Amino acid sequence: MTQHKTTIVLIEDDPQITRFLRTSLGAQGFQLFTAETGERGLVEIGLRKPDLLILDLGLPQMDGIAVIKQLREWSALPVIVLSARSQENDKVLALDSGADDYLTKPFSIGELLARIRVSLRHAAQVQGEDGAGSVFSVGDLRVDLARRRVHLNAEEVHLTPIEYRLLATLIHHAGKVVTHRQLLLQVWGPAYVEHAHYVRIYMGQLRQKLEHDAAHPRYLLTEAGIGYRLADC
Ligand code: CA
Repeated sequence: MTQHKTTIVLIEDDPQITRFLRTSLGAQGFQLFTAETGERGLVEIGLRKPDLLILDLGLPQMDGIAVIKQLREWSALPVIVLSARSQENDKVLALDSGADDYLTKPFSIGELLARIRVSLRHAAQVQGEDGAGSVFSVGDLRVDLARRRVHLNAEEVHLTPIEYRLLATLIHHAGKVVTHRQLLLQVWGPAYVEHAHYVRIYMGQLRQKLEHDAAHPRYLLTEAGIGYRLADC
């Protein structure tokens, strides 16, 4: 029996990064297919049916955002975007357009592997689809999603409905970054997407209740300029 190798498509126009990833991802047992343009990358995805896409945002002609938008019309493939520091706004746009996570260049292979693991795990959960009805725990925080109960150090914590919804949304994406816009949409609804301060205020309250030191959070992590990430280990 042949074992299925996890297949990744990389769309990247920088040959140095492509070379680096071919070596390091190959060494980890991933099968990598590469493309230098968005157009070619979309063809590769159709052809190879990969498990994951790693996508550079700054590409000639069709840029990374356009690739995600087109891809999302027909595929739920996990997407990790690579961006340069100067592309901060594009990063948020990429996440809002359907990318699953991002890395800022330069990044370490360790960081990338961690992101890949989280993205593949989420994709598997979505396919299995019943991972949702259970209990989430990290450190001494424990959330029973079926009974909507939150415990910290075995003591029950009382959250307001909004606080709970905010936490549940982050749990749904545990380990992955969630943008301010995504949180506003999912917790408050489409009429509130401009009210970024809501997220800040409620996240502050949630940290007061769930973090030992709200100024140095262990669970509810800030992704500066992007959104938040719930630690999942
Ligand atoms: Ca580039």
